[in-house]
Amino acid sequence: MAMTSDQIRTLHRIHRQLEHLEDRRARGPRQMQAQSAGVKKLEGDHAQAKSVAQAARMAADQKQLQLKSNEGKIEDLQVKLNTANSNKEYQALKEQIAADKMANSVLEDEILESMDKIEELQVAVRQAQERLEKGKAELVKLEGSIVEQLNLIEGDIKRLSAELAQAEASLPDDFRATYDRLVKSMGADAMAEVEGEICSGCFTRIPPNKISQMMLSHEVTCLSCGRLLYLPEDRAPKLKAQ
Ligand SMILES: [Zn+2]
Repeated sequence: MAMTSDQIRTLHRIHRQLEHLEDRRARGPRQMQAQSAGVKKLEGDHAQAKSVAQAARMAADQKQLQLKSNEGKIEDLQVKLNTANSNKEYQALKEQIAADKMANSVLEDEILESMDKIEELQVAVRQAQERLEKGKAELVKLEGSIVEQLNLIEGDIKRLSAELAQAEASLPDDFRATYDRLVKSMGADAMAEVEGEICSGCFTRIPPNKISQMMLSHEVTCLSCGRLLYLPEDRAPKLKAQ
C-alpha cells in the first residue's frame, strides 16, 4: 500500500501541534523558576535593608547612651565647680566643662543626623517589603495560571496523541520503519511539504521525477535534508473512497 501526501500532511500537522504543546508545557516550570529566583532576590534585598537599618539604629542608640553618660559627667563637674577650693581648680573645671559641652553638642548633631538617616533607611525597608510582597503575590498568581494552562495543555496533548496513534495505525507496514526512524531523530522536522518544487524544510529543489513519484504516492525523502516529503493539499492525488 502506498503512502499518500494527505496522510503525511496529517501526521506532520499532529507532530507540529504536539511539539508546540510540549514547548508550552516546558515553559511553565521555566517561568516559575525565574519568578522564584526573583522572589529570592527580593527576600535578600529586604533582609539586607533591614539589617542596615538595624545597624544604624544601634549606632544611634549607642550615641544616645554616650550623650547621657557625658551629661552625667558634666553635672558632676558642675558640682565640683561649685565647691572648688582654688581659682586654678575652678578655671580647670570650667574649661573641662566647656570642652565636654562642646563634645556633647557635636554628639547631638550626629544623633539628629542619624535620626534622619534611620528614617530614610526605614522607608527603604518598607519599599523592599512592598516589592517582596508584590513578587510573592505574582508568584502565586503565576503558579495558578500555569496549573490552569497545564491542565488544558495536558488535555490537548492527550487528544492529539490519540489522534497521532490513529493516524499512525493506518501507516503501511513497508513505510513504518522509515517513518519511525525519521520521527525518532527529527521529531516534527521529519516531514516537509513541497512548495512549488522546493523542499520547505531545507529550500532545496526537488527533481521532477521525485515529484512524479509523490504524485503516485511513493515514499520520497529530500536528498538534501532527509525529510519525508508530501505535496500540498491542492496538488496531492486523493485516495479513492473505498
Ligand atoms: Zn529538504
